[in-house]
Amino acid sequence: MSEWMKNVRKTEPYVPGEQPKTDNVIKLNTNENPYPPAPGVRKACAGMDTDRFRLYPDPDVTQLTEAIADYYGTDTSEVFVGVGSDDVLAMSFLTFFNSDKPILFPDITYSFYDVWAELFRIPYKRPALKDDFRIDINDYMEPNGGIVLANPNAPTSLYEPVYNIEKIIKANSGSVVIIDEAYIDFGGESVLPLIHKYDNLLVVRTFSKSRSMAGVRIGFAMGSPLLIAALKDVKASYNSYTMNMPAITFGVEAVKDDAYFKNTLEKIINTRNRTKAELEQMGFAVLDSGANFLFASHEKMPAKMIFEKLREKNIYVRYFDKPRIDNYLRITVGTDDEMDAFICAVKEIKENYVCVFQVGVKILSVDQK
Ligand SMILES: *Cc1c(COP(=O)(O)O)cnc(C)c1O
Repeated sequence: MSEWMKNVRKTEPYVPGEQPKTDNVIKLNTNENPYPPAPGVRKACAGMDTDRFRLYPDPDVTQLTEAIADYYGTDTSEVFVGVGSDDVLAMSFLTFFNSDKPILFPDITYSFYDVWAELFRIPYKRPALKDDFRIDINDYMEPNGGIVLANPNAPTSLYEPVYNIEKIIKANSGSVVIIDEAYIDFGGESVLPLIHKYDNLLVVRTFSKSRSMAGVRIGFAMGSPLLIAALKDVKASYNSYTMNMPAITFGVEAVKDDAYFKNTLEKIINTRNRTKAELEQMGFAVLDSGANFLFASHEKMPAKMIFEKLREKNIYVRYFDKPRIDNYLRITVGTDDEMDAFICAVKEIKENYVCVFQVGVKILSVDQK
């Protein structure tokens, strides 16, 4: 072993869902939005003045910060923009979690949290979710170095009401509480109004799911001006130009088109509710989803088997081989056609049933044998 190797920072990286290299796949494994971004994004892309690329982008991300502040009715001093919410969250861990006391997050949640804690050498503790996968707020009443909660939670899809989250924020005025609202647009009520009441609350959001822009990488945080100023200082000590010029422009366009945004959300929520009912009819237990995905398990068919058989049919869902959740599938809500194909394929796995569908295009027919 080379001597320098003992000085290498060892990390166990986060493993994202598979991004297949071909298009002929029904992709329900990374909670992407099945609909395109707002039409204004396409126009802005086509009309992009690429000569401007020779210049550095605005380090303050002024235009997009203003658009977000305007949309959510906050001050620009309460908004921080980053390269997807993963960047915003990582920066927040680095900025706010510097205590000797452990930070707290549930045993089952977004699997990046423990990766960042390890990377930044932040001590952490993971209180177990209750048997119904809900948080026990009493677990978050002990001394800690910070708290991070995804609401709705991933991969469970469960939404925790504001009054419960508020109890946690209120009881922990001595540490920063981060609420990761990656999925809040799909029906939950946000804790955002509370940023004016509690200066220790940071709300993190993303354009990746509800605004169909995972490929552009935009995330943001909203909180008291003191929190945001601290984040900006850390960011400027690390990389001044995180947001590239096209991303800033596309982000502004996406925020402008509220009608398109609301319409996309409504379609996904309707498709989600219909798919949940259909899965339940087939004997699945499906958790109440406040997100753009469903978390489901079947009484007779092992999740891993379903996952593998669906994959053979070019339908990708997410399976986590982890304690407590290794008999669940996480299924992203796609278009109605995609969910029809998915439901049909599950029927085919379950019983004597034959589906004819063409992935990537439209289902041709769904016939019983
Ligand atoms: C998807 C997701 C993120 C990260 O999204 P970005 O694409 O980095 O904005 C953060 N938190 C949760 C809970 C997520 O599901």
